[in-house]
Amino acid sequence: MDLNSIYNDALDDLKNIKNKGDLPLIKSKYIGRKGKVTELFKELTSLPKEERKDFGQKINEVQNKLKELFEEHEEKFRLNAFNIKLNDITRDAYPIESGRTHILNQTYEDIYNVFKSMGFTVVEGPEIEDEFHNFEALNFPKSHPARDTQDSFFFDDKSLLRTHTSPVQIRIMESWEPPFAVISPGKCYRRDTIDASHSFMFNQIEGFLVDEDIGVGHLKAILDIFVQKIFGEDVKFRLRPHFFPFTEPSMEIDIGCIFCGGKGCNVCKNTGWIEIMGAGIIDPNVFTLSGIDPEKHSGFAFGMGVERIAMLRQNINDMRLIYGNDLEFLKQFRG
Ligand SMILES: [Zn+2]
Repeated sequence: MDLNSIYNDALDDLKNIKNKGDLPLIKSKYIGRKGKVTELFKELTSLPKEERKDFGQKINEVQNKLKELFEEHEEKFRLNAFNIKLNDITRDAYPIESGRTHILNQTYEDIYNVFKSMGFTVVEGPEIEDEFHNFEALNFPKSHPARDTQDSFFFDDKSLLRTHTSPVQIRIMESWEPPFAVISPGKCYRRDTIDASHSFMFNQIEGFLVDEDIGVGHLKAILDIFVQKIFGEDVKFRLRPHFFPFTEPSMEIDIGCIFCGGKGCNVCKNTGWIEIMGAGIIDPNVFTLSGIDPEKHSGFAFGMGVERIAMLRQNINDMRLIYGNDLEFLKQFRG
């Protein structure tokens, strides 16, 4: 094969090159160790002496020309790759996900907003309480099971991790003059084994209002607004007699089952009602122990589990999901 047609073949191959990876193959096909041009040098020995020099020069020229062309092509591919990267900079950024408020904090905020709109103040109390504020002042008798170290986390004989947010009632009554309306949020601790509806740590919101001539009617009016705003305008609720040491009368508040509309399902255990909180009229003993005159003042109190409210509203069937850091789960709830 003559030098010219080898050269033209090389030009054709370069013209038709599709991707960068083909370049080394074409290069070795012509000027590699066994390349077509390289092979021609071997033929030199068979030529008459006088032609050798001339032909050798020609092969050299072609070889150098091809080397240049291959380098040009390599450079072209490098530039293309660089330009692709450059264009990449100007394309749409990868979507950056903004953070969301955690489901528990969303629930807290929704509840705050309802009570704030009715004039309640948010006050936080200590998580480490003394027995007086956690039990005695709330009328818990010495023999009450919650006082047992099996149920509470005690530090020593006098202090423990609060088992409910109710001690804040006592702390406010000791230091504020009625009238007042307060909600108090925060973590509470009990020695419960973790399962779908229990945890050693959980969140409560306590609410209480103290003034003169306060009765169940006032409590019911506040609950009416709470249930409408948190669960929906058509949701019914009822007050069901119950017992708590620090309220008299005491009651549990049920809402009409939001899953079956009251027909009966496994969430409401076929009763058509779901318990959402405890409430009652503050026991006169609690007033006396907190330095408020029960002859002059009266009030109501209520307490609810924040996890429970969140679980009911979002149809979450396992409390552990709320504490787990499963982003796929948490992302569902828009803050
Ligand atoms: Zn139901």
